[in-house]
Amino acid sequence: MINSTNKIAFIDLQAQRARIETEINSAIQRVLEHGQFIMGPEVIELEKRLADFVGANHCISLSNGTDALMLSLLALDIGPGDAVITSPFTFFATVESILSVGATPIFADIDCNSYNIAPEQVTLRIEQIQRNTDLIPKAIMPVDLFGLCADYEAINSIAREHQLFVIQDAAQSFGATLSEQTAPNHGTVGTTSFFPAKPLGCYGDGGAAFTNDDKLAEDLRSLRVHGKGVDKYDNVKVGRNNRLDTIQAAILLEKLKQYPQEIQLRQKVADEYTRLINDTNSRFEVQRFQCPQQIDGRTSVWAQYTIRLARPLSKKRAELMQQLKERGIPSVVYYRTPSHLLGACKSLGYKEGDFPKSEQAAASVLSLPFHPYLNLETQKLIVDAVDDVTKQILSNQ
Ligand SMILES: *Cc1c(COP(=O)(O)O)cnc(C)c1O
Repeated sequence: MINSTNKIAFIDLQAQRARIETEINSAIQRVLEHGQFIMGPEVIELEKRLADFVGANHCISLSNGTDALMLSLLALDIGPGDAVITSPFTFFATVESILSVGATPIFADIDCNSYNIAPEQVTLRIEQIQRNTDLIPKAIMPVDLFGLCADYEAINSIAREHQLFVIQDAAQSFGATLSEQTAPNHGTVGTTSFFPAKPLGCYGDGGAAFTNDDKLAEDLRSLRVHGKGVDKYDNVKVGRNNRLDTIQAAILLEKLKQYPQEIQLRQKVADEYTRLINDTNSRFEVQRFQCPQQIDGRTSVWAQYTIRLARPLSKKRAELMQQLKERGIPSVVYYRTPSHLLGACKSLGYKEGDFPKSEQAAASVLSLPFHPYLNLETQKLIVDAVDDVTKQILSNQ
């Protein structure tokens, strides 16, 4: 058993830092010395590297993942009277970006295997918008939840048919692939976040947008610096202040060097979890957990390793988490409340039951400790504890 003096981190960022501490410290030192804290040479270099990594024509580094979504909407001229179709099973920032430009989020339920927006639901919602509202459908904003790409083949074909933009929220999926394309390069524009806990994180807030469209890239570059024209005192539109700090770019340049290997390690950790969990599952009379599904033609970067609790265990999720915590094992629910039921979305008029698959997912998922340097021994301890605690809970029913 693990006691509280032997704590397991949910995401151990220090394990990574320990490996590249010297490189990161000197990268930061270089910025302190040249003093170009805003749009310094590291920012330009990082954008080049990130665009190469993704295979996109343009990378526009930005202040965070939420602003990257918001700026993408602004650049596409989406605002009041426009509808953006998105998933209710996501971090609120996705929906918040749509609300913050005055557009209306229209939710479409998820596919319960991938947890991502279900293409056939998107089609239904577009038809409903056209039939029942005065809104103009402008874009689909799929979320690549937990690091796995949404079904962009189907989504892009729906978008083409209805002349919609696709804004890929790849805050959790930077570097994931689908049909040999790297996220976020599957839509009109794709965004990511470098929040520390994301698969590729910096040491503060950060984000980026990617596109192959020259005009859109130019607009995003203008919008992030107060709508600049030839320079920041030639303001041609109302923009924002949404730049990435040079220090963060310097840190990301070092971290990006490790990232391809970390993606492989992430896959290995995920595979081990799946093997261990399926093994304990098969040694017990009732099905207790479902491991994340891998989907042909897609690779995940495993922003989270999220299991699904079967009934009746899902009803005891809080108890399970508490008991794991007492054994020094953190676990987190992403996301407890689907966006359509959040207080901030009240005015949109949704109610419980509107998106049953998202609601069921929210009620039964559980994310386990995960990072690329999690060792097998610790994974075994975690899965053994989950096994043990769930058996106890089920026998006390
Ligand atoms: C983290 C996250 C965001 C927001 O990114 P920030 O950099 O924290 O603003 C947006 N969407 C999803 C799905 C996220 O997980």
